[in-house]
Amino acid sequence: MSSETLAEIVAAVAKEVEPHRGEGRVADYIPALARVDARRFGLAVITCDGEAAEAGEAWAPFSIQSISKVFTLTLALERVGEGLWTRVGREPSGSRFNSIVQLEAEHGVPRNPFINAGAIVVTDALMDGRPPADAIPEIRDGLRRLADNEAIDIDEEVARSEAATGFRNFSLAYFMRGFDNLKSPVDEVLTTYFNQCSLRISCRQLARAGLFLANRGLDPLSGVQVTSPERARRIASLMMTCGHYDASGDFAFQVGLPGKSGVGGGILVIVPGKAAVAVWSPGLNEYGTSQVGALALERLVARTGWSVF
Ligand code: GLU
Repeated sequence: MSSETLAEIVAAVAKEVEPHRGEGRVADYIPALARVDARRFGLAVITCDGEAAEAGEAWAPFSIQSISKVFTLTLALERVGEGLWTRVGREPSGSRFNSIVQLEAEHGVPRNPFINAGAIVVTDALMDGRPPADAIPEIRDGLRRLADNEAIDIDEEVARSEAATGFRNFSLAYFMRGFDNLKSPVDEVLTTYFNQCSLRISCRQLARAGLFLANRGLDPLSGVQVTSPERARRIASLMMTCGHYDASGDFAFQVGLPGKSGVGGGILVIVPGKAAVAVWSPGLNEYGTSQVGALALERLVARTGWSVF
């Protein structure tokens, strides 16, 4: 790292991306997300030593969307163990996040846990036959504990909006049910999935929640071993190869860190052994990743040298 302090670096990155604010398109296929102003921006970094730096609206809550898939994968692996990998693959998809074509060719076993089909299987695994009324609070409370913030909650309006328009997710789920790769009823799995995607979180809370992945599965600030070092490493490697759908390769090329994006405009990034970073800006690129968020991360890595490559 250069001689600049972390706070100076974060402030400089926010300034550099300022002229780009508003670029990209807000997700409009979920009506409740379409109303968010594309110019908003927040950035937070927390190091494994507990040093924190932030810029912009780092405390503003936004819709976590697919970043929740990192946390449900962690929970599902803790609950059902490595057997999960018989139901979902570990390869980049090269397809859109909600593609159906690939599922047909691969007999209902989704390519990876971060495309929608894979995440729906992961949610089914963590439900383990239990109803949404048990699984949803477990996911929410897990995130509250990791983020060290009891205020984190589900945005009911976004959850309703997703359920009302999630025809593709219903198609994916019924398809997998047809291949016997879902155990719970489709409507229960999707109720849980839509609620996990509708959690509201800020950059500051998200970076805090992801810190265990930067520290071999051990939350360095609470001292809790969230998952084993081996699992933390594997989750991070999947974030690197599959965290941005069919633009995962480009994100690795530009940023070079494990990350997971969500269509709410958030991105969580892990700097192994060092820090967790969360950025939020709702304008998305054509692949569903925050355009200004990815730019900010690229600038951050250029200044810190934090790429794993
Ligand atoms: N809830 C969204 C969906 O299932 C998540 C997509 C994303 O964030 O990439 O369509």
